[in-house]
Amino acid sequence: MKKHSIKVYTSDAAFSNPVFTNSFAPHRIVFHRFRSSENLQESLDQALALLKEARNVVVLTGAGVSTPSGIPDFRSDNTGLWSMTNPFEVATLWAFRDHPQRFYNWMRPLAKDILNARPNPAHFALTQLERMGKVKAIITQNIDGLHHKAETERVLEIHGHLRTISCLNCGHSEESAPHLERFLQTGEPPRCPRCGSVMKPDIILFGEMLPHDVVVAAQEATLQSDLMLVAGSSLEVMPAADLPALAVRSGSKLIIATLGMTPLDHLADVIIRGDVAKTLPWLAKHLAEK
Ligand SMILES: [Zn+2]
Repeated sequence: MKKHSIKVYTSDAAFSNPVFTNSFAPHRIVFHRFRSSENLQESLDQALALLKEARNVVVLTGAGVSTPSGIPDFRSDNTGLWSMTNPFEVATLWAFRDHPQRFYNWMRPLAKDILNARPNPAHFALTQLERMGKVKAIITQNIDGLHHKAETERVLEIHGHLRTISCLNCGHSEESAPHLERFLQTGEPPRCPRCGSVMKPDIILFGEMLPHDVVVAAQEATLQSDLMLVAGSSLEVMPAADLPALAVRSGSKLIIATLGMTPLDHLADVIIRGDVAKTLPWLAKHLAEK
């Protein structure tokens, strides 16, 4: 008797994409899922329906959530900090140890933007969804602390944050704001009050280990979710870009709300191509109405 065969659709593009060079993706079977409508309102209606059904939503946010707050997207063309200076020359752990002044010169405009930034309607909409009990965790690639400023309770900052600053020599750590404000005025890198070494903000540089407990918590939250909402992430940076694939593999729905295309669009149930500072508040408002 002839065995039943199951038609499996795979995407060559997906497998050749650098995003899929990690442990999660190469073995996964890529099914063609529901394709999103080109019509923004139709996408929002579909996303709203999924969010209404969901009980455990985990959100993954990227730079696109912070650009409406005036924080430039590192990876955007031309205007991004990354296009002016090669970050691999200044923002690696080794470069920091050897040339801390160069690192601080590079991050000076960013530090200024972040210290002055305020959350925008996208951040507040996510806080609202958390308070409704819909969102259980927000995993973010952003280091700006704007989810905290918007008073979201459970934020997993997998690339660290700028709230504290630490000494790589003696381990001393303290609040960064006074140090960074002094640095913005003088241009002098912050020094450890205990040993005099240059201190480093607690953001994760290239070549540095990610905070293990935060990454594990993000993976656990993803596995427990029944819906992942990606907001403002281009899903090009590891390991965050693994998480939506992990969510789908464990049976979760996936909504991607970001302006540009992502390498995981083919996995999404709904794609919302719109400004997150408008689309997320719309979703929060209509969920609150139910
Ligand atoms: Zn020290």
